Amino acid sequence: MSKYQQIIPTANKIIKKYDLCDHCLGRLFSKQLHLSSNKLLGKKLKNNLAIERCYICKNLFEHLDHFLKLMIDVSSNYSFTSFSVGAIIKPSIVDKDDFIRSQFKLKGIDSIKTDITKELGRKYSRKTKKTIDHLNPEITFTVNLKDESCELRSKSITLSGRYTKTKRGYPQKQKSCENCLGKGCRICDFHGISKFDSVEGVISKFVFKKFGGTIAKFTWIGGEDQSSLVLNAGRPFFVKIQNPLKRKAKLSDVISDSIKIHHLKLVNESPKRSLKFNSTIRVKITTTSEIDSQGLKKLKILTSNPVVVYDKSGKRSEKKIFNVKYTKKSKNMFNLIIKAEGGLPIKRFVIGDDVTPGISTLLESPCVCERFDFLDIEV
Ligand SMILES: [Zn+2]
Ligand SMILES: [Zn+2]
Repeated sequence: MSKYQQIIPTANKIIKKYDLCDHCLGRLFSKQLHLSSNKLLGKKLKNNLAIERCYICKNLFEHLDHFLKLMIDVSSNYSFTSFSVGAIIKPSIVDKDDFIRSQFKLKGIDSIKTDITKELGRKYSRKTKKTIDHLNPEITFTVNLKDESCELRSKSITLSGRYTKTKRGYPQKQKSCENCLGKGCRICDFHGISKFDSVEGVISKFVFKKFGGTIAKFTWIGGEDQSSLVLNAGRPFFVKIQNPLKRKAKLSDVISDSIKIHHLKLVNESPKRSLKFNSTIRVKITTTSEIDSQGLKKLKILTSNPVVVYDKSGKRSEKKIFNVKYTKKSKNMFNLIIKAEGGLPIKRFVIGDDVTPGISTLLESPCVCERFDFLDIEV
């Protein structure tokens, strides 16, 4: 007896008791027969028997084109190649599906939800030539068959790049939109920021123009003061764009006043852990007592042992200093150029505020950091 003949008695029992559509009946047996079309199997088993209304799905499969149209509408502005489909269906439908399965002891078959999402995926793929990808789709549809709506989520994309800042006065970070505090609202176009007058603002404006999207999340490789310059090759950063409309674009350098963004490229993701980096920093320092070159020589000792830094919470860390250079500018002012491990708090380092040894301590005179600029950042 063939596998097909073996299932006929059970199928007949079910048909006798319940009205099922071709999809729902076929689904109950297609897996064990290794058939891919539930509909054709159901049709064959029912032998063209007509039904009014499917006991399980209430003829949902006849209306899938309506949901297909919702999917096409909601995705019309997006460029992508792969997608997956999820569905929300009425609990009563799931319950009836479970009920039939347990009543007839049917195991290892697709749920009605799986069948609906498969069917919608097939239809959408046929219509748009996009590829179904369950593991890592660029676009995820959630079709809600309860309230007849469709949501779309577009997987984020990440870019890396570097920026330089050749004029003082631009902050690195942008203040959040005052209305939503950064969560995203209508006023800020769901970006979470409504002004673009910072390094973050300049980069955000560019990526939103190129890729669309809602919120841009930054990972900075270190930071600087509003009054600091960032020179030469600049500071590296990563930016993750949520819900992008596009996933590819031609990228060029961006210049906005004194901020330049360069080396922009798409990358797989932002670094998971904070990256180690070293910075070369030029610090302008004024002193209370007069200084002489002999006294400044004491700063050379900084390279022999790491500097110990305590943060506000009391956490201790060590920062190596690799290189120290200084130039006396006047009786009470000198420039210090150091190459140090990233994250050394420069102003506190100069004053000696929970950073040992600090510049003030070494020179035995209270010192103040007037400003500091970044000459190089290497990752
Ligand atoms: Zn059905
Ligand atoms: Zn807002």
